[in-house]
Amino acid sequence: MPNLPTRASFVEVSTAALAHNFSLIQEVCEMPLMAVVKANAYGAGALGASRVFIEQGAIYLGVATLDEALELRQEFKEIPILILGFTPDHMAKTLVEQRITQTIFSHKQAEHFSNVALSLNQKLKVHIKVDTGMSRLGFLPTKENAHEVVKIAKLKGLEVEGIFTHHSNADALFKNYALGQARRFMDFLDELKNLGLEFKYRHMANSACALSMDNYGLDLARAGLALYGLHPSIYTQDALNQKGLELQHAITLKAQIVSLKTIEAGQLVGYGEGYYCLEPTRVGVLPLGYGDGWSKILGNKAWGLLHGQKVPVIGGVCMDQCFVDVGGVPTQEGDEVILLGDPKSGTMGAGDVAKILGIINYEAITMLTRRLPRVYV
Ligand SMILES: *Cc1c(COP(=O)(O)O)cnc(C)c1O
Repeated sequence: MPNLPTRASFVEVSTAALAHNFSLIQEVCEMPLMAVVKANAYGAGALGASRVFIEQGAIYLGVATLDEALELRQEFKEIPILILGFTPDHMAKTLVEQRITQTIFSHKQAEHFSNVALSLNQKLKVHIKVDTGMSRLGFLPTKENAHEVVKIAKLKGLEVEGIFTHHSNADALFKNYALGQARRFMDFLDELKNLGLEFKYRHMANSACALSMDNYGLDLARAGLALYGLHPSIYTQDALNQKGLELQHAITLKAQIVSLKTIEAGQLVGYGEGYYCLEPTRVGVLPLGYGDGWSKILGNKAWGLLHGQKVPVIGGVCMDQCFVDVGGVPTQEGDEVILLGDPKSGTMGAGDVAKILGIINYEAITMLTRRLPRVYV
Protein backbone atom coordinates (compact mmCIF):
# COMPACT_ATOMS: atom_id res chain seq x y z
CA MET A 1 0.00 0.00 0.00
CA PRO A 2 1.29 3.48 -0.77
CA ASN A 3 1.86 5.97 2.00
CA LEU A 4 2.04 3.44 4.84
CA PRO A 5 4.53 4.98 7.24
CA THR A 6 7.54 3.01 8.41
CA ARG A 7 6.69 3.73 12.03
CA ALA A 8 3.62 3.66 14.19
CA SER A 9 4.09 7.36 14.96
CA PHE A 10 4.15 9.96 12.24
CA VAL A 11 3.33 13.51 11.19
CA GLU A 12 0.32 13.66 8.93
CA VAL A 13 0.26 16.64 6.59
CA SER A 14 -2.85 17.70 4.73
CA THR A 15 -1.80 18.76 1.24
CA ALA A 16 -5.26 20.24 0.65
CA ALA A 17 -4.77 22.48 3.70
CA LEU A 18 -1.31 23.57 2.54
CA ALA A 19 -2.76 24.40 -0.87
CA HIS A 20 -5.69 26.25 0.68
CA ASN A 21 -3.44 28.29 2.93
CA PHE A 22 -1.13 29.11 0.06
CA SER A 23 -3.88 30.56 -2.12
CA LEU A 24 -5.55 32.29 0.79
CA ILE A 25 -2.37 34.16 1.78
CA GLN A 26 -1.70 35.05 -1.83
CA GLU A 27 -5.22 36.39 -2.20
CA VAL A 28 -5.10 38.44 1.01
CA CYS A 29 -1.75 40.12 0.33
CA GLU A 30 -2.24 40.32 -3.44
CA MET A 31 1.33 39.29 -4.18
CA PRO A 32 3.05 36.19 -5.51
CA LEU A 33 4.54 34.07 -2.74
CA MET A 34 7.93 32.82 -1.76
CA ALA A 35 7.12 29.69 0.24
CA VAL A 36 9.38 29.65 3.29
CA VAL A 37 10.26 26.00 3.82
CA LYS A 38 13.24 26.29 6.18
CA ALA A 39 13.69 23.86 9.08
CA ASN A 40 12.08 20.99 7.18
CA ALA A 41 9.14 23.23 6.25
CA TYR A 42 8.45 24.00 9.92
CA GLY A 43 7.99 20.28 10.47
CA ALA A 44 5.76 19.66 7.45
CA GLY A 45 8.60 18.03 5.49
CA ALA A 46 10.66 20.18 3.13
CA LEU A 47 10.23 18.17 -0.06
CA GLY A 48 6.60 17.20 0.36
CA ALA A 49 5.48 20.68 1.37
CA SER A 50 7.55 22.38 -1.35
CA ARG A 51 6.00 20.13 -3.98
CA VAL A 52 2.54 21.40 -2.98
CA PHE A 53 3.60 25.05 -2.95
CA ILE A 54 5.30 24.78 -6.35
CA GLU A 55 2.15 23.23 -7.78
CA GLN A 56 0.19 26.11 -6.29
CA GLY A 57 2.42 28.60 -8.07
CA ALA A 58 5.11 29.58 -5.57
CA ILE A 59 7.61 31.67 -7.48
CA TYR A 60 10.42 31.13 -4.96
CA LEU A 61 11.37 28.85 -2.09
CA GLY A 62 12.99 30.37 0.99
CA VAL A 63 15.35 28.50 3.31
CA ALA A 64 17.81 29.37 6.06
CA THR A 65 20.87 27.35 5.12
CA LEU A 66 22.80 26.04 2.15
CA ASP A 67 22.13 22.41 3.10
CA GLU A 68 18.42 23.08 3.07
CA ALA A 69 18.75 24.69 -0.35
CA LEU A 70 20.72 21.74 -1.71
CA GLU A 71 18.17 19.21 -0.51
CA LEU A 72 15.50 21.09 -2.44
CA ARG A 73 17.66 21.70 -5.51
CA GLN A 74 18.26 17.97 -5.91
CA GLU A 75 14.55 17.42 -6.23
CA PHE A 76 13.42 20.66 -7.88
CA LYS A 77 15.75 21.68 -10.69
CA GLU A 78 14.14 24.93 -11.78
CA ILE A 79 12.45 26.74 -8.90
CA PRO A 80 14.49 29.69 -7.60
CA ILE A 81 15.68 29.15 -4.01
CA LEU A 82 16.77 31.97 -1.72
CA ILE A 83 18.97 31.37 1.31
CA LEU A 84 17.67 33.90 3.83
CA GLY A 85 20.68 33.49 6.13
CA PHE A 86 24.48 33.47 5.98
CA THR A 87 26.54 31.13 3.82
CA PRO A 88 30.28 30.80 4.51
CA ASP A 89 32.62 32.23 1.86
CA HIS A 90 34.13 28.84 1.08
CA MET A 91 30.76 27.53 -0.18
CA ALA A 92 30.49 30.14 -2.93
CA LYS A 93 31.24 27.66 -5.73
CA THR A 94 28.36 25.42 -4.64
CA LEU A 95 25.98 28.38 -4.59
CA VAL A 96 26.91 29.26 -8.16
CA GLU A 97 26.89 25.71 -9.50
CA GLN A 98 23.57 24.83 -7.90
CA ARG A 99 21.96 28.13 -8.96
CA ILE A 100 21.01 29.09 -5.42
CA THR A 101 20.21 32.73 -4.65
CA GLN A 102 22.12 34.14 -1.67
CA THR A 103 21.23 36.90 0.76
CA ILE A 104 23.93 39.56 0.96
CA PHE A 105 24.58 41.90 3.87
CA SER A 106 28.28 42.63 3.51
CA HIS A 107 30.21 44.27 0.71
CA LYS A 108 33.24 42.12 1.45
CA GLN A 109 31.33 38.90 1.01
CA ALA A 110 29.63 40.24 -2.11
CA GLU A 111 33.07 40.86 -3.66
CA HIS A 112 34.23 37.36 -2.78
CA PHE A 113 31.11 35.73 -4.21
CA SER A 114 31.40 37.86 -7.34
CA ASN A 115 34.99 36.79 -7.89
CA VAL A 116 34.16 33.11 -7.48
CA ALA A 117 31.24 33.40 -9.90
CA LEU A 118 33.45 35.20 -12.43
CA SER A 119 36.07 32.47 -12.17
CA LEU A 120 33.33 30.03 -13.17
CA ASN A 121 32.16 32.33 -15.98
CA GLN A 122 28.79 32.65 -14.31
CA LYS A 123 26.75 35.05 -12.22
CA LEU A 124 25.45 34.45 -8.73
CA LYS A 125 21.96 35.75 -8.02
CA VAL A 126 21.73 37.69 -4.77
CA HIS A 127 19.15 39.58 -2.73
CA ILE A 128 20.28 42.50 -0.58
CA LYS A 129 19.13 42.41 3.03
CA VAL A 130 18.18 45.67 4.74
CA ASP A 131 17.89 45.95 8.51
CA THR A 132 15.02 48.33 9.18
CA GLY A 133 14.50 47.47 12.84
CA MET A 134 15.00 43.78 13.52
CA SER A 135 18.67 44.43 14.37
CA ARG A 136 19.57 41.09 12.87
CA LEU A 137 21.03 40.69 9.37
CA GLY A 138 21.17 43.49 6.83
CA PHE A 139 22.53 46.88 5.88
CA LEU A 140 21.19 49.68 8.02
CA PRO A 141 19.28 51.99 5.67
CA THR A 142 21.79 54.85 5.72
CA LYS A 143 23.07 57.07 2.92
CA GLU A 144 26.48 55.42 3.05
CA ASN A 145 24.94 51.99 2.81
CA ALA A 146 22.89 53.04 -0.19
CA HIS A 147 26.21 53.69 -1.89
CA GLU A 148 27.52 50.33 -0.67
CA VAL A 149 24.55 48.65 -2.33
CA VAL A 150 25.24 50.54 -5.55
CA LYS A 151 28.83 49.28 -5.44
CA ILE A 152 27.59 45.71 -4.95
CA ALA A 153 25.23 46.05 -7.89
CA LYS A 154 28.21 46.94 -10.07
CA LEU A 155 30.08 43.72 -9.28
CA LYS A 156 30.34 41.77 -12.52
CA GLY A 157 29.86 38.32 -11.02
CA LEU A 158 26.58 39.12 -9.27
CA GLU A 159 23.05 39.60 -10.46
CA VAL A 160 21.34 41.70 -7.81
CA GLU A 161 17.86 40.33 -8.34
CA GLY A 162 16.17 41.39 -5.14
CA ILE A 163 16.17 43.42 -1.96
CA PHE A 164 14.30 42.74 1.24
CA THR A 165 13.76 43.52 4.88
CA HIS A 166 12.22 41.57 7.73
CA HIS A 167 9.66 42.57 10.36
CA SER A 168 10.27 42.09 14.05
CA ASN A 169 6.82 42.98 15.33
CA ALA A 170 4.28 42.69 12.52
CA ASP A 171 2.10 40.33 14.55
CA ALA A 172 1.41 42.94 17.24
CA LEU A 173 -1.99 44.54 17.64
CA PHE A 174 -0.56 48.01 17.16
CA LYS A 175 1.53 48.29 14.05
CA ASN A 176 3.52 51.44 14.90
CA TYR A 177 6.89 49.71 14.97
CA ALA A 178 6.12 47.61 11.90
CA LEU A 179 4.91 50.67 9.99
CA GLY A 180 8.15 52.42 10.91
CA GLN A 181 10.11 49.52 9.47
CA ALA A 182 8.03 49.54 6.30
CA ARG A 183 8.52 53.28 5.91
CA ARG A 184 12.30 52.99 6.33
CA PHE A 185 12.37 50.23 3.72
CA MET A 186 10.31 52.20 1.21
CA ASP A 187 12.47 55.29 1.79
CA PHE A 188 15.63 53.27 1.23
CA LEU A 189 14.19 51.88 -2.00
CA ASP A 190 13.44 55.45 -3.12
CA GLU A 191 16.98 56.48 -2.31
CA LEU A 192 18.37 53.57 -4.33
CA LYS A 193 16.06 54.42 -7.18
CA ASN A 194 17.45 57.94 -7.21
CA LEU A 195 20.89 56.36 -7.49
CA GLY A 196 19.65 54.43 -10.51
CA LEU A 197 19.07 51.10 -8.83
CA GLU A 198 15.88 49.06 -9.19
CA PHE A 199 15.11 45.45 -8.34
CA LYS A 200 13.02 42.67 -9.80
CA TYR A 201 11.92 41.48 -6.36
CA ARG A 202 11.36 43.86 -3.46
CA HIS A 203 9.96 42.02 -0.47
CA MET A 204 9.14 42.55 3.17
CA ALA A 205 6.10 40.57 4.28
CA ASN A 206 6.34 37.53 6.54
CA SER A 207 3.09 35.77 7.44
CA ALA A 208 2.06 38.39 9.97
CA CYS A 209 2.66 41.29 7.60
CA ALA A 210 1.03 39.49 4.67
CA LEU A 211 -2.12 38.78 6.69
CA SER A 212 -2.53 41.98 8.66
CA MET A 213 -0.72 44.86 6.94
CA ASP A 214 -0.58 46.86 3.73
CA ASN A 215 1.82 45.48 1.12
CA TYR A 216 2.97 48.80 -0.44
CA GLY A 217 2.85 47.38 -3.95
CA LEU A 218 5.91 45.21 -3.36
CA ASP A 219 6.69 42.22 -5.53
CA LEU A 220 6.39 39.18 -3.31
CA ALA A 221 5.64 37.98 0.21
CA ARG A 222 7.68 35.45 2.18
CA ALA A 223 5.10 33.31 3.91
CA GLY A 224 6.09 30.65 6.42
CA LEU A 225 3.99 29.80 9.44
CA ALA A 226 0.61 30.66 7.93
CA LEU A 227 1.19 28.20 5.09
CA TYR A 228 1.16 25.51 7.75
CA GLY A 229 -2.20 26.62 9.11
CA LEU A 230 -0.99 28.52 12.16
CA HIS A 231 -1.11 32.18 13.08
CA PRO A 232 1.81 34.26 14.37
CA SER A 233 -0.60 35.81 16.86
CA ILE A 234 -4.23 36.20 17.79
CA TYR A 235 -4.17 39.60 16.03
CA THR A 236 -3.30 38.18 12.64
CA GLN A 237 -6.04 35.62 13.17
CA ASP A 238 -8.53 38.40 13.97
CA ALA A 239 -7.43 40.35 10.90
CA LEU A 240 -8.09 37.34 8.70
CA ASN A 241 -11.35 36.34 10.34
CA GLN A 242 -12.67 39.86 9.90
CA LYS A 243 -12.40 39.25 6.17
CA GLY A 244 -14.42 36.07 6.63
CA LEU A 245 -11.34 33.93 5.90
CA GLU A 246 -9.64 31.16 7.82
CA LEU A 247 -6.45 29.14 7.59
CA GLN A 248 -6.86 25.38 7.49
CA HIS A 249 -5.23 23.05 9.96
CA ALA A 250 -2.41 21.14 8.25
CA ILE A 251 -0.06 19.33 10.65
CA THR A 252 -1.17 16.45 12.88
CA LEU A 253 0.99 14.24 15.09
CA LYS A 254 -0.35 10.72 15.45
CA ALA A 255 0.84 7.61 17.24
CA GLN A 256 -0.58 4.14 17.60
CA ILE A 257 -0.86 2.37 20.90
CA VAL A 258 1.73 -0.36 20.40
CA SER A 259 1.27 -1.94 23.82
CA LEU A 260 -1.70 -1.86 26.16
CA LYS A 261 -1.52 -3.34 29.65
CA THR A 262 -3.25 -2.96 32.96
CA ILE A 263 -0.63 -1.93 35.49
CA GLU A 264 -1.15 -2.72 39.16
CA ALA A 265 -1.39 -0.09 41.88
CA GLY A 266 2.03 0.79 43.29
CA GLN A 267 3.92 0.28 40.02
CA LEU A 268 5.99 3.04 38.41
CA VAL A 269 5.37 4.13 34.83
CA GLY A 270 8.56 5.06 32.93
CA TYR A 271 11.91 6.15 34.32
CA GLY A 272 12.29 7.40 37.85
CA GLU A 273 9.37 8.33 39.95
CA GLY A 274 7.52 10.34 37.34
CA TYR A 275 4.28 8.44 37.86
CA TYR A 276 2.98 5.88 40.32
CA CYS A 277 -0.20 4.00 39.60
CA LEU A 278 -2.47 4.56 42.60
CA GLU A 279 -4.96 2.05 41.26
CA PRO A 280 -4.98 -0.52 38.46
CA THR A 281 -4.36 1.61 35.36
CA ARG A 282 -4.73 0.83 31.66
CA VAL A 283 -1.48 2.18 30.25
CA GLY A 284 -0.97 2.56 26.50
CA VAL A 285 2.58 2.89 25.16
CA LEU A 286 3.09 5.27 22.23
CA PRO A 287 6.23 4.82 20.12
CA LEU A 288 7.57 8.36 20.17
CA GLY A 289 9.53 10.47 22.59
CA TYR A 290 11.92 13.37 22.98
CA GLY A 291 14.11 11.87 20.25
CA ASP A 292 11.25 12.80 17.95
CA GLY A 293 10.79 16.29 19.37
CA TRP A 294 8.06 15.17 21.74
CA SER A 295 9.60 16.82 24.77
CA LYS A 296 10.24 15.24 28.14
CA ILE A 297 8.44 18.21 29.69
CA LEU A 298 5.15 17.07 28.15
CA GLY A 299 4.99 14.08 30.52
CA ASN A 300 2.17 14.41 33.08
CA LYS A 301 1.06 17.61 31.29
CA ALA A 302 -0.03 16.85 27.73
CA TRP A 303 -3.00 14.85 26.58
CA GLY A 304 -3.90 12.89 23.51
CA LEU A 305 -7.20 12.22 21.81
CA LEU A 306 -8.26 8.58 21.61
CA HIS A 307 -11.55 7.79 19.89
CA GLY A 308 -12.57 11.39 20.53
CA GLN A 309 -11.73 11.27 24.25
CA LYS A 310 -8.95 13.01 26.07
CA VAL A 311 -6.32 10.71 27.58
CA PRO A 312 -3.52 12.13 29.71
CA VAL A 313 0.14 11.57 28.91
CA ILE A 314 1.50 10.07 32.14
CA GLY A 315 5.00 9.55 33.47
CA GLY A 316 8.10 11.03 31.95
CA VAL A 317 8.40 11.06 28.18
CA CYS A 318 11.31 8.74 27.26
CA MET A 319 13.58 9.16 24.23
CA ASP A 320 11.56 6.80 22.06
CA GLN A 321 8.30 6.12 23.89
CA CYS A 322 5.72 7.72 26.11
CA PHE A 323 2.61 6.65 27.99
CA VAL A 324 -1.07 7.48 28.08
CA ASP A 325 -3.62 6.49 30.69
CA VAL A 326 -6.49 5.30 28.50
CA GLY A 327 -8.84 5.12 31.48
CA GLY A 328 -12.18 3.61 30.54
CA VAL A 329 -11.95 4.36 26.83
CA PRO A 330 -12.72 1.20 24.86
CA THR A 331 -9.49 0.63 22.95
CA GLN A 332 -6.99 -1.94 21.79
CA GLU A 333 -3.43 -2.13 20.54
CA GLY A 334 -3.15 -0.49 17.13
CA ASP A 335 -5.59 2.31 17.92
CA GLU A 336 -4.50 5.82 17.09
CA VAL A 337 -3.86 8.66 19.53
CA ILE A 338 -3.69 12.22 18.18
CA LEU A 339 -1.15 14.19 20.18
CA LEU A 340 -1.09 17.43 18.26
CA GLY A 341 -3.81 18.40 15.85
CA ASP A 342 -6.67 20.74 15.12
CA PRO A 343 -7.71 22.15 18.51
CA LYS A 344 -11.26 22.45 17.19
CA SER A 345 -11.46 18.67 17.30
CA GLY A 346 -10.44 18.51 20.97
CA THR A 347 -6.78 17.65 20.46
CA MET A 348 -3.91 19.75 21.70
CA GLY A 349 -3.01 22.36 19.13
CA ALA A 350 0.51 23.61 18.50
CA GLY A 351 -0.41 26.53 20.74
CA ASP A 352 -1.34 24.20 23.62
CA VAL A 353 1.92 22.29 23.33
CA ALA A 354 3.76 25.61 23.16
CA LYS A 355 2.06 26.87 26.31
CA ILE A 356 3.18 23.82 28.29
CA LEU A 357 6.73 24.12 27.05
CA GLY A 358 7.00 27.90 27.34
CA ILE A 359 7.67 28.23 23.59
CA ILE A 360 5.68 29.46 20.58
CA ASN A 361 3.59 27.53 18.06
CA TYR A 362 6.38 27.97 15.47
CA GLU A 363 8.69 25.92 17.67
CA ALA A 364 6.09 23.33 18.64
CA ILE A 365 5.82 22.11 15.04
CA THR A 366 9.41 22.80 14.02
CA MET A 367 10.79 20.67 16.84
CA LEU A 368 9.24 17.47 15.44
CA THR A 369 12.37 15.77 14.16
CA ARG A 370 13.02 14.05 10.87
CA ARG A 371 12.87 10.70 12.62
CA LEU A 372 9.07 10.93 12.36
CA PRO A 373 7.87 9.96 8.89
CA ARG A 374 5.79 12.58 7.09
CA VAL A 375 2.62 11.23 5.58
CA TYR A 376 0.85 13.40 3.00
CA VAL A 377 -2.88 12.98 2.75
C1 LIG B 1 11.38 32.62 8.68
C2 LIG B 1 11.36 33.82 7.82
C3 LIG B 1 10.19 34.20 7.14
C4 LIG B 1 8.86 33.55 7.38
O1 LIG B 1 8.30 34.02 8.56
P1 LIG B 1 6.85 33.55 9.07
O2 LIG B 1 6.59 34.37 10.26
O3 LIG B 1 6.97 32.11 9.38
O4 LIG B 1 5.92 33.79 7.94
C5 LIG B 1 10.28 35.28 6.28
N1 LIG B 1 11.43 35.93 6.09
C6 LIG B 1 12.57 35.61 6.74
C7 LIG B 1 13.80 36.39 6.51
C8 LIG B 1 12.56 34.55 7.63
O5 LIG B 1 13.69 34.24 8.29
